[in-house]
Amino acid sequence: MNQVVRYLTKSRFKLAAECPRKLYYTGKKDYLDRSLDDSFLAALAEGGYQVGELACLIHPGGIRVDDLDHQVALAKTAELLQQDEVTIFEAAIAAGNLFVRVDVLRKSGTRIEVIEVKAKSYNAKKDGDFKGAKGQLKSDFLPYLQDVAFQRYVAVAALPGHQVHAFLMLVDKEQSSTVDGLNQRFKVVVEGRRLKVQVTPGTTPESLGQCLLAKVPVDGQVDMILSSTLAVGPADLRPFRAAVDAFALAYSQDTPLLPLPSSACGGCQFKAPSWPLAEQPKSGFHECWSQAFNWGQRNSI
Ligand code: SF4
Repeated sequence: MNQVVRYLTKSRFKLAAECPRKLYYTGKKDYLDRSLDDSFLAALAEGGYQVGELACLIHPGGIRVDDLDHQVALAKTAELLQQDEVTIFEAAIAAGNLFVRVDVLRKSGTRIEVIEVKAKSYNAKKDGDFKGAKGQLKSDFLPYLQDVAFQRYVAVAALPGHQVHAFLMLVDKEQSSTVDGLNQRFKVVVEGRRLKVQVTPGTTPESLGQCLLAKVPVDGQVDMILSSTLAVGPADLRPFRAAVDAFALAYSQDTPLLPLPSSACGGCQFKAPSWPLAEQPKSGFHECWSQAFNWGQRNSI
């Protein structure tokens, strides 16, 4: 039987940046995880699915890889990448224990574009190159830039001999829709615990009118992130690449990293209100604080 590879994905990378110990609890059925319902509702509210579908429509001819199984998705993507010119939606790429799904991947010869699509407004005059007055990356765009930085890092390692370039595709605030009822053409439907977008039949790139998405090159910003430090937890700064590699190794081996106890633990998704009984899901919070502060059950909060 094939052993399942425990990949560090984008979402697990984000989780580890919040607190590395979360990697040990995530996805385990015997641990309480209060984020599961929240993330589904957040995705529904965010509008990202419609924007993602819009991005696909403006790349006609693109091929979607929507298999949930990592190995199947990797195999399909690898086969598509044999072509000289191809656009792939949800392309699956892995390097070692790192795995990403790229919203839109465009290949032309040895040039690869990794395009991350976000339902985030962008105004070229105001937001420019996402840098503040002192040259630092603006905090409201930093998570998106780190997201695409992680993707480019994986793509470069996975696709030697190619030049990989990173882009964010954002909602262009300087444009206004030239078509009435555009959003009604993208209907979000719930299938089990997945959201999908149904596009009104007959919708073509031409029927969408003025393009409402801005494609912004971010290689310079990604270079800054990859050569800099990553904020891990409330107080740590770690070299970005070393942090990614350490998270990937710990997750692949299912090794619990040290907890980072702080006031943020109060909102941790792995926190039960009190010490769980034997038949209840385990509380990551109580394990973390037991380890960090030598707690016993009498210290229950
Ligand atoms: S309880 Fe605190 S230390 Fe433990 S995983 Fe959550 S945030 Fe990290």
